[in-house]
Amino acid sequence: MNPTDTSAPSNFIHEMIEKDLETGRFDGRVQTRFPPEPNGYLHIGHAKSIVLNFGIAQKYNGKCNLRFDDTNPTKEEEEYVRSIIEDVRWLGYDWGERIFYASDYFDQLYKWAVQLIETGHAYVDDLSAEEIRAYRGTLTEPGKNSPYRERSVEENLDLFERMRAGEFPNGAKVLRAKIDMASPNMNLRDPVLYRILHAPHHRTGDKWCIYPMYDFAHGQSDSIERVTHSICTLEFENHRPLYDWLLDTLGIYHPQQIEFARLNLSYTVLSKRRLIELVENSYVNGWDDPRMPTLSGLRRRGVPPEAIRSFAERIGVARNDSIIDVSLLEYHIRQDLNKRAERRMAVLHPLKIIITNYPEGQVEMLEAVNNPEDESAGKRTVPFSRELYIERRDFNEDPPRKYFRLAPGREVRLRYGYFVTCTNVVKDEHGEIIEVHCTYDPETKGGYAPDGRKVRGTIHWVSAAHAINAEVRLYDRLFTKHNPLDAEEGKDYKDYLNPNSLEVLAGCKLEPSLSEARPGERFQFERLGYFSVDPDTTEGRLVFNRTITLRDTWAKIEKQQRK
Ligand code: ATP
Ligand code: MG
Repeated sequence: MNPTDTSAPSNFIHEMIEKDLETGRFDGRVQTRFPPEPNGYLHIGHAKSIVLNFGIAQKYNGKCNLRFDDTNPTKEEEEYVRSIIEDVRWLGYDWGERIFYASDYFDQLYKWAVQLIETGHAYVDDLSAEEIRAYRGTLTEPGKNSPYRERSVEENLDLFERMRAGEFPNGAKVLRAKIDMASPNMNLRDPVLYRILHAPHHRTGDKWCIYPMYDFAHGQSDSIERVTHSICTLEFENHRPLYDWLLDTLGIYHPQQIEFARLNLSYTVLSKRRLIELVENSYVNGWDDPRMPTLSGLRRRGVPPEAIRSFAERIGVARNDSIIDVSLLEYHIRQDLNKRAERRMAVLHPLKIIITNYPEGQVEMLEAVNNPEDESAGKRTVPFSRELYIERRDFNEDPPRKYFRLAPGREVRLRYGYFVTCTNVVKDEHGEIIEVHCTYDPETKGGYAPDGRKVRGTIHWVSAAHAINAEVRLYDRLFTKHNPLDAEEGKDYKDYLNPNSLEVLAGCKLEPSLSEARPGERFQFERLGYFSVDPDTTEGRLVFNRTITLRDTWAKIEKQQRK
């Protein structure tokens, strides 16, 4: 995929909606919904669905609901509800008053279950979960009818009522749709609609001890909300006949279910179950660890929501599963930050240089451009003095060919400052370089020599006396494998965790204007990458996250590996 191709990606869902608008199928309405189950934090795969559903509402002057699919009280929590609300807002979407919970529909869903029993379309089954599985048959063999399938309507009504009243333990009975145990579609082989679960629900408390299954709750919730286009991922394609059967059999308003391919991203995993595993076993530092593909992790890392939106729009939707290269997401992050992030100077691995001919005690305020991509960002001043820090790797005592930075006898430009020439190297008793001595040319202020002489290298720096200290956290990909789920025999995705995905640098030196930086603010550290202020920052302790490097170093590494 060419990342610079900005033509609108083809979107078969838009085409379907436009056709429905033309034929007046839903009276010209467009109503979508984003239906997360509050059993984990949202990840970038969910962002694809959010951008799609809310984007469609915006494009066609429709509405998009936020609906919590909260039918499983044992896995769902209020914390997840809160985080999901925060993340969808952060992405830039607004559902107005239209926030809903499937649990608000439990009374209606119960009535519909009774209706199915009364019309002979559902029955109470005493088979155990294991027996139900055994009776279900396989893809090549039809299933067998349960011995309880022919119970009378009266008996079913009585048993279902008693299930609700709490007379039976978990698993003793279920309510099943009576469809066809020989259907080639396994989902139509008398699917379970309700199960007994003596567990309090985070919203309905102890009111219920039977809970609807996903398939029974989802379509009916869509119907209640008068959703027009119920967009979901491909694994639900085989559920669509059941979705349709339930709505038709109940004789209620019938939305159109449409499936699209879920987002998979290289070098990470997008599945709540696995992300929970990473969090609970402390492979990462929580859901918002900046290495996580969660929206809260990306936010903490400094990724702007606009970059996620433009990425999601760029990849579009398709009907076939594929893995999108994470470098495409990184491209969108760089594009966005390049426009908005102000430039600053920061030294991550400091080496002191002393400008021996610069007057002791003198300080000059030099002018620096905040963002060459955005003139309105203005300018700032940075202090220059006799002692500075530069990056260790910007000095080389024995420079290889094509090394144009500082080296003995070499002249380089200090960004926004002067030309300096290295005159001497000071080492400690172990031979470690502790200081580099230079002279500067006072005629070169602003970075140009009046005699027209050129230097090949420009390096950044921070005045030692004015520098502020910071901790900087560098992140790399969380996994070393393109598709961690494609594990070798006897391994699993966790065996491909990158042991070097986090590097913490203490004692980094920043230009003093950054002392005012607040959590969430983003900067480009010149020549180093984009960085954002971490919420761990407190008075007197500044912590930065590297959001992303300036260039795609991985593309290079992968190219070399392929050779
Ligand atoms: P996971 O597989 O990560 O556990 P899920 O599908 O169980 O996710 P839900 O809370 O049910 O998570 O998802 C809410 C919505 O987000 C659903 O409509 C689902 O189809 C969509 N969604 C989830 N993962 C992805 C993905 N990787 N790409 C696109 N859409 C996704
Ligand atoms: Mg799900």
